[in-house]
Amino acid sequence: MAKAIGEIIVNIEQCKGCELCIDACPEETIALSETINKKGYRYAVTVNQNCTGCANCATVCPDAVITVYRKIEKSA
Ligand code: SF4
Ligand code: SF4
Repeated sequence: MAKAIGEIIVNIEQCKGCELCIDACPEETIALSETINKKGYRYAVTVNQNCTGCANCATVCPDAVITVYRKIEKSA
């Protein structure tokens, strides 16, 4: 069975820490950073490898600062 593997890249300096992406992620892959960006906001970071590339986070982000990469890995 093929498995979807995803990865997100967050433009951290543009993130406002609104947490919408955190709520939208079914894999609990996103959390807020402990440190702040230049605007003074905590920003979205990934905390596990469970991302499937579903793009929910990128869809809900009001500032469109998340880019999603997705590949399908075929099992042997
Ligand atoms: S692409 Fe989907 S699984 Fe991956 S971090 Fe975003 S919401 Fe979570
Ligand atoms: S939805 Fe966008 S602006 Fe809000 S915390 Fe996530 S990446 Fe940052």
